[in-house]
Amino acid sequence: MSSKKVVKNNKATMSKPQPKVAAVKTAPKPFVKKPTTVPAAKPVSEDAGKKVANQLATVRGMKDILPPEGDGWLHMWRTAADIATAYDFHYFETPTVEQTSLFVRSIGRGTDVVDKEMYAFEDRDGGKICLRPEMTASVARAYVMHGLHTQSQPVKMWSIGPLFRYDRPQAGRYREFHQFDCETIGESAPVIDAELIAVAYNYLRDLGLSTTVRINSLGTPDDRQNYLVELTGFFRTKRGYLCEDCKKRLLKNPLRVLDCKNESCATVVAEAPQIVDWLSEPSKAFFMSVLEYLDELGIPYVLTPNLVRGLDYYTHTVFELYEDSVNETAQSALGGGGRYDLLIEQLGGQSTPAAGFAMGMERIAAAVERIAAAKAAALASGTTIADLPGPSKPVVFFAHLGEQARRRVLKLIEELRQGGIVVRHNLAKSSLKVQLELANKYNATHTLILGQKEVQDGTVLIRNMESGIQEIVDQKKVRQAIVKILES
Ligand code: AMP
Repeated sequence: MSSKKVVKNNKATMSKPQPKVAAVKTAPKPFVKKPTTVPAAKPVSEDAGKKVANQLATVRGMKDILPPEGDGWLHMWRTAADIATAYDFHYFETPTVEQTSLFVRSIGRGTDVVDKEMYAFEDRDGGKICLRPEMTASVARAYVMHGLHTQSQPVKMWSIGPLFRYDRPQAGRYREFHQFDCETIGESAPVIDAELIAVAYNYLRDLGLSTTVRINSLGTPDDRQNYLVELTGFFRTKRGYLCEDCKKRLLKNPLRVLDCKNESCATVVAEAPQIVDWLSEPSKAFFMSVLEYLDELGIPYVLTPNLVRGLDYYTHTVFELYEDSVNETAQSALGGGGRYDLLIEQLGGQSTPAAGFAMGMERIAAAVERIAAAKAAALASGTTIADLPGPSKPVVFFAHLGEQARRRVLKLIEELRQGGIVVRHNLAKSSLKVQLELANKYNATHTLILGQKEVQDGTVLIRNMESGIQEIVDQKKVRQAIVKILES
């Protein structure tokens, strides 16, 4: 016989005092992020106040990630770990500080990252070191340094961590930011490029974001050499229309003119020769093969001839992911990557093909937040949220009434955790009304309620927060009941 029984309210089961549960609004409320800034303590004088505020400020372009935003970040971290593991990538970490020469050798002079954006300094012994501006060069260094070519190839690695670039801070551009990074080293097949694009695309989809891949091929250095002669000649004839930065780029790194966002430069670029026309037959075949895999996987892509990604080490495939229905700006790529077949050799290793991507977590968090806000607005205006993207996992809250129940709940929370289930709760609150309000705030679909009677009976009430209907469940079967809720 089932231990469940449907009852319409919990009055008969509660010990005193009886809370007015019915008075609590139970319709699910959308999550809307509130500002997390704490008001500054009242200063003794204006000057003293400014001094305290300055001392407490984060370094320009760097920010704190605090609750509740932090929970969203954890979700992005876990989703990254899940998808990377599912595609057989293995976790790595490299130091945040590296020798400056590593990035000068790999990324190359003439790039913004190396010329303008490195946090480079001397340590106490005069060693030239810097905060890493990206992860690929570090991974390549580690691969060579630890002889990873002796392991079974390819070596597939993933990580998440902070990067530092001394750029002008603005929306979507920070001086400290985080990337989810995947690298496949030791294999040259085009399916590797397609797999990486699939991981990046599906990661964003798992977070509720709908994106399109922009893709191009830079071919081999030989293909590029011929193309560069043609491109430089073309830009010289249009020099007068180029911005001051691009005039310098023309001398140092003409490919960079292609991704300049200046309007006048963009008009020139629209008429510029395209690298795909300069690819050798094998390079063309490689690119076609990557595109065929994407077709097979149903991943939407746009051929983007001016996508060059700025760094010297890329060969063949380069790609970036953009959120659909968001106007493009210089800061709107959610992530990007490509093949870098020459980098390992350039750093002193054997000739080793490789490819990878990096996703910008700050920009992804902002996109996910925008979607959550759109959902909240849609709910408020009566639009069906089913039309909007984004996963909504059921949340379960565990409320208690009375000291004995509090102790029992504390124990049950651990038992549930051991069974792989996490419930929200606030054991410090005594009032059931307050706890149900919290459950609403967290958008709980169900609240478990344990009062004195339930402690004695060995049962728990499970309240559907939308319908108000409650069931009584044996405490021993509460895990099964929650699993059913979470799967529904
Ligand atoms: P990149 O390493 O330049 O190819 O960048 C990969 C991704 O990291 C970009 O698509 C952005 O999402 C993110 N990203 C790069 N630079 C920054 C920055 N300064 N602030 C925030 N995110 C960034």
